[in-house]
Amino acid sequence: MLEERKNNYIMSIFKSGIYFGISICDISTGEFYSAEIKDNQNFPLLLDEIARYNPSELVINTMMSDSEEEISKIKERFDCYITNYEDKYFDDKLDNLNLRFNITDTNNKKIEDIADKKLAISSINALVQYIEQTQMTSLDHINKITIYQISKYMSLDINARRNLEITEKMRDKSKKGTLLWVLDKTSTSMGGRLLRRWLNDPLIDVTEINKRLNSVKELKNDMILRGDITENLKKVYDIERLAGKMAYGNANARDMITLKNSLQKLPDLKQTLSKCNSVMLTELYNSIDELKDIYELIEKAIIDDPPMTIKDGDIIKLGYDEEIDKLKTATTQGKNWIIDLEAEEREKTGIKNLKVGFNKVFGYYIEVTKSNLSQVPDRYIRKQTLTNAERFITEELKNLENQILGAEEKVVNLEYNAFVQIREEISKNIKRLQISATAVATLDVLTSFAIVAEDLNYCMPIVDNSGIIDIKAGRHPVIEKMLGAGIFVENDTYLDKNENRLSIITGPNMAGKSTYMRQVALITLMAQVGSFVPSQEAHIGVVDKIFTRVGASDDLSMGQSTFMVEMMEVASILKEATQNSLIILDEIGRGTSTYDGLSIAWAVAEYIADKEKCGAKTLFATHYHELTELENQLEGIKNYSIAVKEKGEDIIFLRKIVRGGTDESYGIHVAKLAGVPKQVTQKANEILKNIERKNILTGKQMEKKEKKQVEGQFDMYNYKLAEIAHEIDKINLNELTPIDALNTLVRIKEKMK
Ligand code: ADP
Ligand code: MG
Repeated sequence: MLEERKNNYIMSIFKSGIYFGISICDISTGEFYSAEIKDNQNFPLLLDEIARYNPSELVINTMMSDSEEEISKIKERFDCYITNYEDKYFDDKLDNLNLRFNITDTNNKKIEDIADKKLAISSINALVQYIEQTQMTSLDHINKITIYQISKYMSLDINARRNLEITEKMRDKSKKGTLLWVLDKTSTSMGGRLLRRWLNDPLIDVTEINKRLNSVKELKNDMILRGDITENLKKVYDIERLAGKMAYGNANARDMITLKNSLQKLPDLKQTLSKCNSVMLTELYNSIDELKDIYELIEKAIIDDPPMTIKDGDIIKLGYDEEIDKLKTATTQGKNWIIDLEAEEREKTGIKNLKVGFNKVFGYYIEVTKSNLSQVPDRYIRKQTLTNAERFITEELKNLENQILGAEEKVVNLEYNAFVQIREEISKNIKRLQISATAVATLDVLTSFAIVAEDLNYCMPIVDNSGIIDIKAGRHPVIEKMLGAGIFVENDTYLDKNENRLSIITGPNMAGKSTYMRQVALITLMAQVGSFVPSQEAHIGVVDKIFTRVGASDDLSMGQSTFMVEMMEVASILKEATQNSLIILDEIGRGTSTYDGLSIAWAVAEYIADKEKCGAKTLFATHYHELTELENQLEGIKNYSIAVKEKGEDIIFLRKIVRGGTDESYGIHVAKLAGVPKQVTQKANEILKNIERKNILTGKQMEKKEKKQVEGQFDMYNYKLAEIAHEIDKINLNELTPIDALNTLVRIKEKMK
């Protein structure tokens, strides 16, 4: 029971020291990939690769299963079945591996120094044997193994994939409301699967990205071309999986007709592509094999509307096989004999309603109703008694039966054999089928991008290695689609490797901070996948990795709202991000006390801004307004905020990002908008005013330039005072010893620092 538009992967992991060899296979389509992880960030990269394929099962060696900490991290993040497999299967012998399979790199070139790829080979050997053992079948349809370079693709950790809701929603794993949902206008399930894979594998090679983009442009600009292609694609079924079924030997005659009807469209598709100019479409034109021979074979042999089962005949067309034709004529003739016999017996016996019938248990019989039994002659042999009738046979009928059934049985057998032979013949051509299937799927995805670009008014991004992300009037693809055209408020973005590396984004709750940051990540990702993007203009310098971290309290849907998890992820981001990465930090430091949280957020921002330590392009949304101070202190940091307008006691969300920080939280305004009872919001206002007054009384407060007091929040100085007040409050004077008093004073002094 496979989902048509989703691959079903099984993955093997061979751990050797700190390195990994991995192999991934989808048995139903015959795709097989392998890679080695020998970078310095091995385990995080492994997690990225698992996230990329989202396999349903992992087959691992002993060293892997013994690494408890790593296994528990895998289990925490992924919902897949883990099988410990004996080490003897993970061997690095090449044997006939490269005779059996065509082992290539991603450009389809044969790999010369394959013997060096011991990690990959070990994982391939294990996976091949595991599949053979568990599926108990040959792997005929897997003839190509692609060994890919991890660095070919953007690295997206599991959090980024989840947070950006690329292919599934965080909450319910559904497709609706994801980037895939917006971009999927594919016509075939092969295209659907490939699109999902592309979205999971954004590229980093500028040439490859532009190859895709240019073909999308050609398809977008030519409505007629696009129309012709989709019309043909709509009639193409899942050639990839049909091919797999052929090789597996579980394809029936209907599958063959489906395959035939799909292949019938290939010449038209090829013809349509012959007019195209872009590099990638020309390549597709060249790689589509029309498979006319296969089409003709099925057309000649298989009847157009065959039954489900292949064991009861009625599948081979007349004219395909002489022997079958002959026997078929014999059985039709036999049936005529039966009709003649019926007429003859009616005449002979004078029984007008005498019938010759057939059932599977008793074979042919003559049926006479009870009222006519007296007229039955002696030569009739009784076979079966029914309530209203008796059934008989005669010598002559028995003979006919033998002839007819004998011929029928033979035909059924011959048809079955002929069918199996045709299926084997098709299996021999599986590689050609797969190549055409891939070409069709690719064309489908590119066309889908073009359709979406046209329908939703996307633009072609300029993609290069400039390190700049410059988006004019960008939109969030999913929210825009949810809201309907024209409602979403567009925003610009400018990030580079110098003055504009880190944007601190402030603004009240619900202003649109999270939406804005995700929009930038999604536009970057879309551009690197080769899709047009929702903006007026976009200049995207390729990023090597995208990270996202959402503050603990915003991330409840994961069921992991602990501050510890948040900090572990922040730790790994700080370790793994490079100057070429894009980081989205959404309200980090929320899961602890305000004082702690602010300090952590501050230190993290400082660390990232330091070119020596990290220097990644970063969008950092925070409700700690104090962080806006950083702009004055460090190079590369700029303040932005999302504008709101005050209107009397209310606020209006403008959703516009503007230069400069805010110092307004508008928390009470938002509470009011949300329908919190008036008594509560009024009381809150009073409390707020009180707090402010007290703060003013403490004097120090107002030296913070001429800024208004931050509503509902304290600044750094006041945090300290609050902590000290708390400390003093805790003291129980009746029990305080002189030593305790001294210690308390020391603690308070510490806090003043
Ligand atoms: P924040 O993170 O600042 O609390 P969100 O990004 O969650 O705010 O945005 C809150 C809601 O505002 C979103 O669910 C969306 O419906 C709406 N919104 C955000 N940005 C925009 C925009 N640019 N145009 C229109 N609506 C927006
Ligand atoms: Mg938010």
